[in-house]
Amino acid sequence: MINKCINSILSALPAPSCVLCGTGATREMALCPDCRDDLHPNHHPCPHCAAPLPAAAASVCGECAGLAGGADRVFAPYLYDQTLGRLINRFKFHSGFDCGGVLARLLEAHIAARSDPLPQLLIPVPLHPKRLRERGFNQALELARPLARRLAIPLDPQRIERLRPTPPQSRLDAPRRRANLRGAFRMRGALTANHVALIDDVITTGSTLRELTRLLRRAGVERVECWAVARTPRR
Ligand SMILES: [Zn+2]
Ligand SMILES: [Zn+2]
Repeated sequence: MINKCINSILSALPAPSCVLCGTGATREMALCPDCRDDLHPNHHPCPHCAAPLPAAAASVCGECAGLAGGADRVFAPYLYDQTLGRLINRFKFHSGFDCGGVLARLLEAHIAARSDPLPQLLIPVPLHPKRLRERGFNQALELARPLARRLAIPLDPQRIERLRPTPPQSRLDAPRRRANLRGAFRMRGALTANHVALIDDVITTGSTLRELTRLLRRAGVERVECWAVARTPRR
């Protein structure tokens, strides 16, 4: 009865306008169908870092082929291109939480379509306290909050601590990225979940998520997933 009332109130409200172009969006997401069509799906992602692979290529990218211990599953349903970049920039650098809501919906739509068991715990990639003070919020946590609520998965934003700020990974080659991240994170206390998903906005190189995956495995987590909205193609 209450649901019926809520639904009839919702259907009487005007649909939200698109966060990018201002025209009419759908009721479930403040992004119009045209802007949504401008997004580029990541059709053939590397299973360990989500780097886009040519359709006919090997099943793992060249960089992951030589590395052990990656995540069991990496989700990054879109490529980081112009339209997605506009959503991310407004969310991250202009506190555009309406854009953050759209990004969470886009990710959720892909996660909800899967048939295998969902993780028992979500952990957003932590920001260093200095970066957090500058930005005022952690974009990974803001994406994780609605996902946790709608998918009914507990969220633990305090479990992993970032001990030092690290320069952007994309400017470094693979061995330097690994050295750059060594000792950058620490686990606080014990974990009881054995299936965990790490949440981030964009996967740029996969190095940060790989380092966090190692940390979770050392803490006894058996199955590690990484969820992000988009993957930056390798240059
Ligand atoms: Zn639009
Ligand atoms: Zn890869």
